[in-house]
Amino acid sequence: MAKPPHPTRQALGVHHRMVGEVLVTALNDGMFEGSFDFLANFPSHEAEALHQASFRAVPPRLAVNNFLLRVQDRIVLVDAGCGGAMGPDMGHLTVNLAALGVAPGDIDMVLATHLHPDHIGGLVDGAGQAVFPNAELVVHQADHAFWGDDATLAHATSDQDKGFVQLARATIAAYRDRTRTLSQGEALQGVSILPEPGHTPGHSGWLVASGGDSLLIWGDIVHMPGIQFPRPQVGMGFDVDGAQAIETRRRIMDMTATDRLCVAGMHLDFPCFGHVARAAEGYAFIPEVWTPTV
Ligand SMILES: [Zn+2]
Repeated sequence: MAKPPHPTRQALGVHHRMVGEVLVTALNDGMFEGSFDFLANFPSHEAEALHQASFRAVPPRLAVNNFLLRVQDRIVLVDAGCGGAMGPDMGHLTVNLAALGVAPGDIDMVLATHLHPDHIGGLVDGAGQAVFPNAELVVHQADHAFWGDDATLAHATSDQDKGFVQLARATIAAYRDRTRTLSQGEALQGVSILPEPGHTPGHSGWLVASGGDSLLIWGDIVHMPGIQFPRPQVGMGFDVDGAQAIETRRRIMDMTATDRLCVAGMHLDFPCFGHVARAAEGYAFIPEVWTPTV
C-alpha cells in the first residue's frame, strides 16, 4: 500500500495567545530573503558574524507577521501583511484567516502600525479595491498625512520608493470613507496606540491591555532580530528618519525590559511573542516557550 506523500509545505503559521480576555492570534504572512545591505550603519561582515554565531541564515531571512484580535465581539486585524506586493511566497493572510473560519467581510477594524507594503499590501487587491469591505482603517495621523502628501511622492527617487508611496496612496484611497486617524488614546476598548516615530513618521505600536495582562504589538521596532537586539543602534536603510528610529528603538526596548512587558512584532521570529531583557551588550529577545493558553 502506498505511503502518504511527504508534506511539501510547512503547517500554517497560526498561533494563539490570550491577553486577559482578548484572544491574540499571530499570523505568519511568509518569509523573504533580505540582505545585510538593508542595514543603514553596520558593516555587512559584522552582521554576518552575528548571524553565524547565532545559527541564523546568511543571507538573512525575515519573517513578516500580522495579528488578529478578538476583542469582545469585534474582529480586529493589526496590519495585513504583503498581499501580492512582495511575490507569491508571501501574502498568506487570506489563507490563514480562512483556516480560522474568518471571511474578509468579518473584519471590523484594521489597526495599521505604518503604511509600508509588507504591512498594508494585504489591504487592497490587484484592482485597487479594499479586501476588507466592512473594516474601518485606523492609522496614526502622521503616517496618513506623510504618505498622502504629494511632496512624499515627488521626493521618491527610486522605483522602489515610488512603489512604496503609490501602494500607500492606493490604500488610503480604497479606505477613504472609513479611515480614522489617531495620535493617542484607544482605537477600541483596551487597545491603544503607542507612537514610535522614526521608521516612518507615524509608525506606532498597539498596546493591548485586558484583565491585568498586556501586550505591545510593536510593529517594526526590530527588522532583524539577530542584529538589532544585540545592536539596537543599527538602523535600516528605509527608515524615514534613521536617527529618530534608533532613539525610539532604544526607548521602547528600555521600557519593555524595565516593565517586563510582553511584546510581539511584525518581523520577530514566529510565533513572535516574548520579552526583552538587558544583555552584556544591548538587549536579548527571550521568546515565550510553548505554553498554550488556548
Ligand atoms: Zn515591515
